Amino acid sequence: MVERGQNIHTRWYARSPDELARALDVSLAEGLREEDAAHRLSMHGRNELPEAPPASPWTILGAQFTSLIVWVLIGAAIVSGLLGEWVDTGAILAIVLLNGFLGFVQEYRAEQSLAALKTLAVTYARVIRGGSRRSLSSTELVPGDIIDVEAGDHIPADARLIQAAALRTQEAALTGESTPVDKSGGVLPDSDLPLADRRNMVFLGTTVTGGKGRALIVATGRGTELGRIATLMTSVPVEPTPLQRRLEQFGHVLLLLSLGIVVVVFVLGLWRGEPVFDMFLTAVSLAVAAIPEGLPAIVTTTLALGVMRMVTRHALIRRLPAVETLGAATVICTDKTGTLTKNEMTVTRLALDGLVYEVTGEGYGPDGAITGGDPREGGLQQLLLSALLCNDATLKEVDGSWKVVGDPTEGALLVAGGKAGWRKEDLERAHPVAGEIPFDSERKMMTVVRRSGSDIVAYVKGAPDILLGRCRDYLSVEGEVRPLTDSMRESILSLNRRFAGQALRVVALARRRLDQEPSTYDSETIERQLVFLGLAAMKDPLRPEAKVAVELCRSAGIATVMITGDHKETALAIAREAGFPGGAAQALSGLELNGLTDGELSARVRDIAVYARVSAEHKLRIVKAWRAQGAVVAMTGDGVNDAPAVREADIGIAMGLTGTDVTKDASDMVVTDDNFASIAAAVEEGRSIYDNIRKAVHYLLSCNLSEVLVMLGSTLLGWPLPLLPIHILWINLVTDGFPALALAVDPKDPDVMKRPPRDPQARLLDRERFLAVCLQGTVMALVTLAVFGISLTIWHDEVPFARTMTFTTLVSVQLLHAFSCRHERYSLFQIGVMTNRALVGAVLLSALLQAGILLSAWGQEIFKVVPLRADEWELMLGLGVLPFVVMELWKAWRRMREPVAEAR
Ligand code: ATP
Repeated sequence: MVERGQNIHTRWYARSPDELARALDVSLAEGLREEDAAHRLSMHGRNELPEAPPASPWTILGAQFTSLIVWVLIGAAIVSGLLGEWVDTGAILAIVLLNGFLGFVQEYRAEQSLAALKTLAVTYARVIRGGSRRSLSSTELVPGDIIDVEAGDHIPADARLIQAAALRTQEAALTGESTPVDKSGGVLPDSDLPLADRRNMVFLGTTVTGGKGRALIVATGRGTELGRIATLMTSVPVEPTPLQRRLEQFGHVLLLLSLGIVVVVFVLGLWRGEPVFDMFLTAVSLAVAAIPEGLPAIVTTTLALGVMRMVTRHALIRRLPAVETLGAATVICTDKTGTLTKNEMTVTRLALDGLVYEVTGEGYGPDGAITGGDPREGGLQQLLLSALLCNDATLKEVDGSWKVVGDPTEGALLVAGGKAGWRKEDLERAHPVAGEIPFDSERKMMTVVRRSGSDIVAYVKGAPDILLGRCRDYLSVEGEVRPLTDSMRESILSLNRRFAGQALRVVALARRRLDQEPSTYDSETIERQLVFLGLAAMKDPLRPEAKVAVELCRSAGIATVMITGDHKETALAIAREAGFPGGAAQALSGLELNGLTDGELSARVRDIAVYARVSAEHKLRIVKAWRAQGAVVAMTGDGVNDAPAVREADIGIAMGLTGTDVTKDASDMVVTDDNFASIAAAVEEGRSIYDNIRKAVHYLLSCNLSEVLVMLGSTLLGWPLPLLPIHILWINLVTDGFPALALAVDPKDPDVMKRPPRDPQARLLDRERFLAVCLQGTVMALVTLAVFGISLTIWHDEVPFARTMTFTTLVSVQLLHAFSCRHERYSLFQIGVMTNRALVGAVLLSALLQAGILLSAWGQEIFKVVPLRADEWELMLGLGVLPFVVMELWKAWRRMREPVAEAR
């Protein structure tokens, strides 16, 4: 019984919208009132599906103790215990725990930051509430809400269609059917229809592939069809970046290498007759010395901090590997409208029948006029009325300023109509909509069919060159229909070119009286034999910051390519304003592109900076052509058809404001303000994050190398153990950790956007850096060994004393060395000591901890160190600055050799 009752209840498709509206207690025209919606939200809960919980703190903590080196250390602690060295056991375990805890804190914070990113990436729905349309987080939707959906949207809940215009959805996630399904509003039979046949319903988890519609929500969250089958949605896993993967492999190599060395040294020592326990300690120390234990946590933290910094610069990273790829980008392909320009359209010219009228006034406000003719009679009046009737946008006054809800191109037409005294709302009643073919950047046109008394009229607007091909007649300035001659066509096209050359975007308007009901036509049969009404040309100012960003990219060796649906002349004019490398030879239209094979395009692609009148499939070809040339391509997209190109690009970038959900899904990064300057900023951040990771890796590796060399050197010289395992553990896990973390937040290199992009195939440590690591590690080791030797032989002949000296010297040279790692070419004095206060703080903290060990009784007991005299400190500090001096000299030599920054 219950089953049956539920079934009837969910047969929304068998009821008319009016019936449903009554059942759900909502007005179809006005939507829910806010109070009702709030009440329903508390009853039904948020419109969300349950998600798999994020990794628990315990799992993260546990993961800190799974590495092989930790087990080696625990083994060492146990052996020390068995040999009665309880203090060693305790100390090793304490350091392992401390390191585990520090790793946990870093990783937990990184996880939290990355999880916060997900909450920033909410999807929005357009909902009608209290009589007006607004954008609302999809989680706030409730049954009874009325939503508008269009191409590229995710359907945010299960809903019954009220209206649909050429609406198609992709329902594979629910039904497994991969071809899009046509949707329409009519009532379906009251029988048990499978999901796939419920053509008047749209479902959560599906996407709109074309057209648009209005629908009444009948179920949200768990109550939806998807909610029933998916009780648990797994969240997207955080992928490791290529760099992290490479470092992990590198870690394995290091481990094997160090185990090899350990075995050799151990056998060598035994052969020489050293006591087994001493050799065991040496072996453990060496193993610990060779492995940069803190590295993975530092890299994760650097990435997470960098990604959060990007958010403040309007770039939302969706896939972590993109951070690295961004830094290697060699070409950015960008849309024009809204990204390079402000997308604030203002009609400045109207043209019909060979006459041009000027439209004055700025912005979306009604101030301004149409000069040169009476806009309330003849052809001009018809042009303006059509501009308002073939229009989906609305104007809204918010706090004294006017805003467009909908497409700015259409908003600009409403404003132009307003300047003649026409309002779309007033016309709407006398001319109700009878059908619609929404705008689509593939067709570059749209049509709205309206009834005017007994007449049915199709109002069409679109790109002039395309629309003109479908016109048979034109309307004269007096308002008479006349045949369109070839010479008239030519003069309209030449006017179009003239407007476009002034960086104006041009839309043509046309109409046609229909003899039959609109349902008897399709897009092919309706948009023909049109009467051409005229042109509307609008300006869309360049974003001032775009010009700066294009120049920034140029200096960074990154090519900027404009890809637009607009006319070639408009695109070129904007490109000139934005400072693109100029010349018509560098522009290609979609039509010209069609004439090129993939090979020909690839051969020419480096010379072309502007693509005009292109569609989404061209974008895909352009990405492929660049990639075939070995470029690392960033590609922006907003429309649903852009998704394949965005997916194909090395860095797919979706627009946050105008981008559709489908494009965002395909992207690696979302630019939340749609601004080209934010893309350039993200590249800059990407480069800087990579730099900082490299600094930390460089620092830690050179420090590890110095430790290995000290241990090896002393073994080869037949000296006693210069450092105990606990000393090396302390250095690697504590005193090195803080400076390495501070290097992760090092401020940007002033040259970061002056050097060419990094080669994505290049190693993290190129030859130069590898040499630097070896040189620095060796110098630090030599100085430390010298101190050990001097203390051991000349000063006192006491091993604990010599070890104290060695231990402290190594800590000091390494702390100073952190400053050297801030830049591989510039002297610390050129970049400024205080420009990274975190590093100064970290070094001071580590120095204080070290002093604490030397000066406290418990420190001396655990670390087996002895207090030092002033002259001993002097020796250490005197020799301790040597490596720093060597590093400064090495940098000076590099600066002399290559005065200009090169790719890194
Ligand atoms: P991009 O954003 O990639 O720079 P675009 O947004 O300028 O490209 P489209 O929106 O595809 O490109 O516009 C292409 C052409 O279609 C425009 O030049 C204009 O003539 C016409 N057009 C644009 N919007 C509309 C609209 N809402 N109605 C009718 N025609 C339009």
